[in-house]
Amino acid sequence: MENFWFSSNVTERVIGAAYYLPSNPLESHMEDGWNYMNNHFSRFQIACWGSLLVHEVAFVLLNLPLFVAQFVPFLQRYKVQTDKPESYVDQWKALKLIMFSHVFIDTPFTCGTYVFTEFFNIPFSWESMPCWYSIVGYIFLCLVVEDTWHYFLHRIMHDKRFYKHCHKIHHTFQAPFSIAAEYAHPLETFILGMGTMWGILFFANHLVLIWAWAVARMLESYDVHSGYEFPFNPLHLIPFYAGTRFHDFHHKNFHGNYSSTFTWWDKLFGTDVQYKQFIEKQQVDKEK
Ligand SMILES: [Zn+2]
Ligand SMILES: [Zn+2]
Repeated sequence: MENFWFSSNVTERVIGAAYYLPSNPLESHMEDGWNYMNNHFSRFQIACWGSLLVHEVAFVLLNLPLFVAQFVPFLQRYKVQTDKPESYVDQWKALKLIMFSHVFIDTPFTCGTYVFTEFFNIPFSWESMPCWYSIVGYIFLCLVVEDTWHYFLHRIMHDKRFYKHCHKIHHTFQAPFSIAAEYAHPLETFILGMGTMWGILFFANHLVLIWAWAVARMLESYDVHSGYEFPFNPLHLIPFYAGTRFHDFHHKNFHGNYSSTFTWWDKLFGTDVQYKQFIEKQQVDKEK
């Protein structure tokens, strides 16, 4: 069975995807590397072990600079909650649960990539790979879908009847640090993780998009939990991007700012009112 969106070319028409970039040395190296992978490994190995490798390598490479930031005095001026520095105890506590989640939840979830790619006959070849701006467009659509799912499910998780059974664990840290993004009850990892899947279920037209989306979602999630609002952060070029300060306030205040990536749902439902007041007060205090 083919992916409906792929087979009907709807997304190509919507985004105006083109399939080839002008050749350049970097592209030629990437092509050689990609073809080597396809020629030496089976689709099962690439979808399962390749996806796991992408996930774990991205986890280390994206978190490492944010972890190192706590040891650089110059960067402390960008820390959002300056009165709550990172502690080794908290970071070790988070890492232990995250390792458990990676082995028992993320690994079977990620290996499901093989079932998905076979069921929808998702291509792996270099020739069928969408161009970079098509991938960027799809990632934006996936972010919109995930953010919508996240907003409503996150609000439900804050309901008194459910909160203590599940979402309370994610709120252990009032001043989050990057890996705290994944510090959650296994049920929450599963439920909110579904939001990461919906977009790709509709838009996936190549393995590279599945991998690019996984990395993009991890990057966004670590960034908003990093505890640092760095200037010149390229993620702030994304229209309506919420950013670190926005989600940091959710951890600090507990109420409001339920979205993961964008600000529009909180604006629409007025759940960013306390955040706006807080920012205004901060501004006034600064001017005094
Ligand atoms: Zn919450
Ligand atoms: Zn959080």
